[in-house]
Amino acid sequence: MDFSSKLLENAVNEVSQLPGIGKRTALRLVLHLLKQPESQTLRLSQSLQKMREEINFCKNCHNISDTTLCEICANPNRDESLVCVVEDIRDVMAIENTSQYRGQYHVLGGKISPMDGVGPMDLNIPTLVEKAKSGKVSEIIFALSSTMEGDTTNFYIFKQIEGTQVTTTTIARGISVGDELEYADEITLGRSILHRIPFETSLKSS
Ligand SMILES: [Zn+2]
Repeated sequence: MDFSSKLLENAVNEVSQLPGIGKRTALRLVLHLLKQPESQTLRLSQSLQKMREEINFCKNCHNISDTTLCEICANPNRDESLVCVVEDIRDVMAIENTSQYRGQYHVLGGKISPMDGVGPMDLNIPTLVEKAKSGKVSEIIFALSSTMEGDTTNFYIFKQIEGTQVTTTTIARGISVGDELEYADEITLGRSILHRIPFETSLKSS
């Protein structure tokens, strides 16, 4: 792509780094911004910068939060003995939308993926194992997407907490293999959260 302006080229290059955005789309977005009042671009860049500088992660569940403890962890009505393991905030939002879950979460921040160079130590797994050994948790629910990386991660955690008093379960899936939680419809996901099955059973059936 030949640009008549280096400034335009730089902006297009930055925007095209985003997932799913090719150079053509990036150019369209940048030209759109140029047509809008300057204040809009300023608000966009300032909100992104503010988010990066001030973003906080809940010290208990690692979910993105504006406070030290997120609203869910700080809520005394949520059952802290029940911990649902998810990949990121999108899964928390999807499960919260079902209104069927009254426990807490543990956000891993990804899944174990040797192909992408992501190992157990790159994720929030040590604090989960610590939680499991603390005696405060009675059940850990695996709710990662049922991809190979999801299964590997579940199994790794399962092995790490073997021998503790914690029961491990997995959400019963009406969701087909490979589907991400965020795309599952609320009723199916709500049912899955209520009708969970022992993790060992899920190992035998797969
Ligand atoms: Zn939290």
